[in-house]
Amino acid sequence: MTTNRPGDRRTNRLIHAVRSMLGGDDADADAPDQSGRDLFERIGVFLFTNQLEPLPSHYELAHAYCLGSNRRLRFAVDRAIARDGRLTDEVAEAILAETRSELSAEALSKLIDEAQLGLASIAGVVKQSGADAQAYGEALEDKVAGLSREDGAEGGDQSLAALVFLTRAMIEKTRDAERQLRQTDKRISALRSSLVEAQRVAESDPLTGLANRRAFESQLARAVHAARGNGAPLALAFCDIDNFKKINDTHGHEVGDRVLKYVARLLSDISNDACHVSRHGGEEFVILFEGKTADQAFEVVDDARRTLAARRLGLKDSGDPIGQVTFSAGVAELHNDENGRTMLRNADTALYRAKRHGRNQVLMAEGSGSGG
Ligand code: GH3
Ligand code: MG
Ligand code: MG
Repeated sequence: MTTNRPGDRRTNRLIHAVRSMLGGDDADADAPDQSGRDLFERIGVFLFTNQLEPLPSHYELAHAYCLGSNRRLRFAVDRAIARDGRLTDEVAEAILAETRSELSAEALSKLIDEAQLGLASIAGVVKQSGADAQAYGEALEDKVAGLSREDGAEGGDQSLAALVFLTRAMIEKTRDAERQLRQTDKRISALRSSLVEAQRVAESDPLTGLANRRAFESQLARAVHAARGNGAPLALAFCDIDNFKKINDTHGHEVGDRVLKYVARLLSDISNDACHVSRHGGEEFVILFEGKTADQAFEVVDDARRTLAARRLGLKDSGDPIGQVTFSAGVAELHNDENGRTMLRNADTALYRAKRHGRNQVLMAEGSGSGG
């Protein structure tokens, strides 16, 4: 006879939860575009026209570019080609490095999400098992108390005494199991706190301390959902430091890092519960304005732009001047028929226009703001 007792089902659920936590389905194995020869030829043309040596890293970049699956990478490459005429080795490396760090952060975050889910499911199973075990123990105890009374009244039946002894031992075991479950529950709580901390780290940018792109993605999804629900306006600014590469080239990467931190601090001064500043990558920042129209967001960002442009930065230790640091920005608002991604793309396009029109300016996306 096959049985499928509640205990077995619980065990199966537990095994299933552990399996899915340890890997499960690899649903993310996106099948690459397999138009083999055509892709290979396009990669060749890309390398050749950009005079890039056939190095593995250049192949990697060309492959990603020709596949077209990473919009930011494509945009960064197109922008560099429009500016310099071709992709230099240095710029190719910088774009690739940025893409790689984004990918590994994304993979880490995904892992954390999965572990969280797995843990929540195990915690549920363990709690349920604990409650069942307690109920079982109480029922047994009740029965044994009854048996003991009968036993005493009839002058002692050996087998009944043995049964009482065995049952008591079982109750002890059940209590042991409960104790272990309580300990496991504590360990799971501690693990959950570590995961929350890991998630916080995965969602913040180590250099500037700002929210990173991943955190921004969830903020954007949440803010779009809220705006759709309450009908409040939602706007976004895409900011990019002007000629930042020159700062790196002139003063070194370390000074570049300090400038990044400086601008991040300046922008974070405008953040509050309804205004979220994040580092989108490299020298790019995105500001999300909940409850603000594009015109209102424009005012805030342009104010920050003017403040920065009016300052003259210098090196603390040597006193050497860095000079004026500026940024350009594009502002867009959420339209009824568009999603958050479209708003981001519109702001990005406006930023691109701001760059072409001479930098150190904020431009409104077409169709956003009272003038649009
Ligand atoms: P534009 O005005 O058109 O934006 O020019 P740009 O020089 O600011 O833009 P470009 O995209 O050519 O160069 C950005 C540079 O930012 C290239 C990259 O090496 C540098 N960069 C990216 N991340 C970091 C970082 O974390 N620290 C430092 N120091 N530099 C970075
Ligand atoms: Mg820039
Ligand atoms: Mg940039």
